[in-house]
Amino acid sequence: PTREEITYFGAGPALLPTDVLQNAAQALLDFNNTGLGIAEHSHRSELATNVINEAKADLATYLDIPTDEYEILFMQGGGSGEFSATVYNLVGAWVTRRKQDLLRQWGTSADEKGLAVEEKLEAELRKAVEEDLKLDYIVTGGWSQKAHAEAVRLLGPERVNLVADARTINGGKFGKIPDEKDWTLSRDPALVYYCDNETVDGVEFPAFPASLAPRADGSGPIVVADMSSNILSRRIPVRNFSIIFFGAQKNLGSTGITVAVIKKSLLPPTTPQPEPALLRKLGLPIGPIVLSYETIAKNNSLYNTLSIFDVYIAGQVLKKLLRTFPDKVDGQQAVAEKKASLIYSALEAHPDVYRIVPDASARSRMNICFRVTKGSDVDASEKAFLKEGTARGLTGLKGHRSVGGIRASNYNSIPLEGAEKLAAFITEFAKA
Ligand code: PLP
Repeated sequence: PTREEITYFGAGPALLPTDVLQNAAQALLDFNNTGLGIAEHSHRSELATNVINEAKADLATYLDIPTDEYEILFMQGGGSGEFSATVYNLVGAWVTRRKQDLLRQWGTSADEKGLAVEEKLEAELRKAVEEDLKLDYIVTGGWSQKAHAEAVRLLGPERVNLVADARTINGGKFGKIPDEKDWTLSRDPALVYYCDNETVDGVEFPAFPASLAPRADGSGPIVVADMSSNILSRRIPVRNFSIIFFGAQKNLGSTGITVAVIKKSLLPPTTPQPEPALLRKLGLPIGPIVLSYETIAKNNSLYNTLSIFDVYIAGQVLKKLLRTFPDKVDGQQAVAEKKASLIYSALEAHPDVYRIVPDASARSRMNICFRVTKGSDVDASEKAFLKEGTARGLTGLKGHRSVGGIRASNYNSIPLEGAEKLAAFITEFAKA
């Protein structure tokens, strides 16, 4: 089949806009009449810096990120790399804050501290780490589960607090978001982590969790969110977060870069990372330099070789979004909601044929997970659904291997007509 004949509902890497790819194909051969392709130019060139700075500026415009308060970083290592990066960096920030608190209490500045103070400081910090260092995770699906597992792997189970596990309220399966009044946060956690949209399980937070919001005086928990599979699809209250991260390969662009949006107060000069020697003495892990937000920020994402081609694609997607939606992310949000509602309505109209997997209160607009329960053999019905869908050019609908079923990934690049085609097929398949 040709590209035009297909609507691809795969979960990621996802469909990219055809015109973006056409421009990219040309840019690979000859970027801006330089005779060299975008993937051949040095990442240290002015041209590469411009690509990075424009993509950052367009992302900030589209999502209303206050750039005086937040830094935008292009990283490598994927969403999974950020599971580790958030731990390393925010444990470091926690140690720095404790150290600063102690020095403030003792009235000694970091520069003029003598050997005795240093020893006392180490002893106090060791005690603090032993008694008080905790990372809080809210687990609502396969990806936050993996992030939680990574924190446990790096720090040990005693330092990681499982705030809530959605499986405990839903018969052992993901599909609901536990009530916030049942969340027990630690006293001063290094981070509170959640995944805004669970790609595998089709669970999305309907809104920012109210109990994590900053207090009137501006203080509040250090909130980290994985938005890999719903970024750019709805407005986010950026100031409620300390770190938002997302892999590019769903709503932003091609596989190969990951974005971290980080509050500047977590970076130097306010919060420098502790010296590796101190972390070693405290028995805490020292992260790879390429996952250090401080290092990547200091180098405007060019500490080491970055795929400028992937940043370029992301930049082109953002420019297209800004052209298409004068009201920026709000415009895209309205379309995303409309598309999701078309598909869910078609499914709901035939409860004898389809079962939507997650609870109605937590249904994702991006990854629509359902079972085809028509007939006695679900497996055969789902196979038939996939086969007939493919014949109509509706592809990539197979659910994640860990949960089975059907998953329609309704990312930004799926046009309204694509969602309409799928809704029509859902209806016709039910009637057949
Ligand atoms: N987080 C979410 C929500 C995802 O959907 C994925 C991948 O699909 C990841 C993290 C992991 O991303 P990566 O494969 O880039 O490590």
